Amino acid sequence: MTHVDVLVVGAGISGIGAAYHLRDQRPDTSFMVLENQSDFGGTWRTHTYPGIRSDSDLYTFGYRFKPWVGDPIATAEQILTYVGEVIDDNDLDRFIRYNHQIVTASWSRDTALWTLEVVETDAGGVGETTHVFTAKFLWMCQGYFRHSEGYTPEWDGFDDYEGTVVHPQLWPDDLDYSGKRVVVIGSGATAATLIPAMVDTAEHVTMLQRSPTYFRVAKNANELADTLRDLDIDEAWIHEIVRREIVKNGALFAQISAEQPEFVKEELFAAISEIMGDDYDLSPHFTPSYRPWRQRIAFVPDGDLFHAIKGGKASVVTDNIERFTPRGILLESGTELEADIIITATGFDLNVLGDIRFTIDGEPLNFHDTITYRGSMFTGIPNMVWVFGYFRASWTLKADLIGDFAACSTTWMICAPPS
Ligand SMILES: Cc1cc2nc3c(=O)[nH]c(=O)nc-3n(C[C@H](O)[C@H](O)[C@H](O)COP(=O)(O)OP(=O)(O)OC[C@H]3O[C@@H](n4cnc5c(N)ncnc54)[C@H](O)[C@@H]3O)c2cc1C
Repeated sequence: MTHVDVLVVGAGISGIGAAYHLRDQRPDTSFMVLENQSDFGGTWRTHTYPGIRSDSDLYTFGYRFKPWVGDPIATAEQILTYVGEVIDDNDLDRFIRYNHQIVTASWSRDTALWTLEVVETDAGGVGETTHVFTAKFLWMCQGYFRHSEGYTPEWDGFDDYEGTVVHPQLWPDDLDYSGKRVVVIGSGATAATLIPAMVDTAEHVTMLQRSPTYFRVAKNANELADTLRDLDIDEAWIHEIVRREIVKNGALFAQISAEQPEFVKEELFAAISEIMGDDYDLSPHFTPSYRPWRQRIAFVPDGDLFHAIKGGKASVVTDNIERFTPRGILLESGTELEADIIITATGFDLNVLGDIRFTIDGEPLNFHDTITYRGSMFTGIPNMVWVFGYFRASWTLKADLIGDFAACSTTWMICAPPS
């Protein structure tokens, strides 16, 4: 059995941030990070589809304590390098245990401890050893979806299709799409990323959507950061100033979207028309039925998705799927979309707190019976924080705030005597 003061669940961007905050703000607190993958990075390691990149800027998606010095939108590789530097610079590796899957977590009022059952797989993923860890405090950084599979809806005739179906979350390393007709189902950030990355190799890529998404088109650059760099301002200052600018503008944009939706729509549409031309009709494919920011707005850096459509290598179809056929997809309109490869960019398989079975004094815990406090703790669940990011701002802004909150909360929680 291993005992620590704080146990961090997950070594994604949140878990590595938690480890940094513990080292920085509570150097005398013992802790460990348990991660079921064989390496750090979470989302940015498990997603390997072409073009994989952030859709928010790295000034705010990066940590507040490590300046971001690249273009605002970053590739998964750049994000992994950045997070890896945080691990190296702060000697965090010795606190992380990889291939450790937490299966159960039980709180006991008698001992005032969490007890975790953890299964360790060996490097080949074959052998398994069960370990028990105890901790005074749990810091949940497990993300919000299963990394082992994506979400695929059920469609009639799915098994009749004779081509290849791929979910972006499980992208096969050897998928050869050169000269192939590809249909991507979905029009969220994943589709907007994949399509421009595939068009140079594929014969044609069709984005098939049930309903349109708002896209925000802008340069992958931050003017203020570039100006400050020209003036030889220290990178730490640039990071802080640019973060403040982005947070302020982001809040303003969300407010104007609610108060003057028609104005925001016009601005968003104008940026698309600048690429597609004024005579291109935006109404069937790019005009959602809801107002901006009711759902996430997908960012299109440098307008690459629209350049692909304009160039004729990609196209958009807005229709409902009637059924799959041996050759492709039959749409409700009666059109059949033929495809060699169908990519289901249809979202995540959401889960609750890493699929861990929680109990309190032997009673199974149902999170739907609880209410969150500041979106980071749950009623009736002691000595635990949970990291969940924002809807209209970068995830890591919240992860850093919870870093301060948890580091301060642990002061009294881990010192409190058993009740
Ligand atoms: C393609 C893509 C792009 C995105 N782009 C952005 C963006 O630009 N901006 C933004 O704000 N958000 C973005 N998101 C959302 C993104 O997932 C989060 O912002 C962020 O990466 C989540 O980090 P995390 O560390 O909290 O969770 P994750 O990255 O999900 O990492 C959680 C880790 O915990 C581990 N884990 C889970 N359960 C257990 C368990 N029981 N035992 C042990 N280990 C466990 C997992 O293996 C994983 O490594 C994006 C998501 C995707 C899929």
